[in-house]
Amino acid sequence: MSDYVHSILSESQEQALIDAIIQAELHTSGEIRIHLEKTTGKSSAQKRAKQWFGKLNMHKTTEKNGVLFYLAIEDRKLALWAGEGINKKVPTNFWHEIIDLMLNEFKKGHFSEGLIAGVEKTGKALGEFFPRQDDDTDELSNEISKS
Ligand code: CA
Ligand code: CA
Repeated sequence: MSDYVHSILSESQEQALIDAIIQAELHTSGEIRIHLEKTTGKSSAQKRAKQWFGKLNMHKTTEKNGVLFYLAIEDRKLALWAGEGINKKVPTNFWHEIIDLMLNEFKKGHFSEGLIAGVEKTGKALGEFFPRQDDDTDELSNEISKS
């Protein structure tokens, strides 16, 4: 694992995060991913989140209900990018509470706790709009991607 990732996440915390994604996806057909990047460079976190959403093929889920949590570690920036299927269904303030919850933890230096809390809340919230079906498949990897 790269050093910059290590600076906020131990290997056991990374595993706990993967487990949180697996658990969250038990509530919903939505697919959650986390991407960690060293820096956004000259771009904004929102733009990078959108780009990585595409690079990770997250727009290809059947119900267009992928959610990406993007974190630029050195810049301390968080952004979320959600598939069109989600944006059509959820109210505009849907993400505010989740982002607030996460930033509160981040401010205390609790990165894995913040990410886990965000993933859990997203799983439950998405379950209302996209309940998990009996024939659910894991459309997107639950591993944390890094660049
Ligand atoms: Ca799934
Ligand atoms: Ca998945």
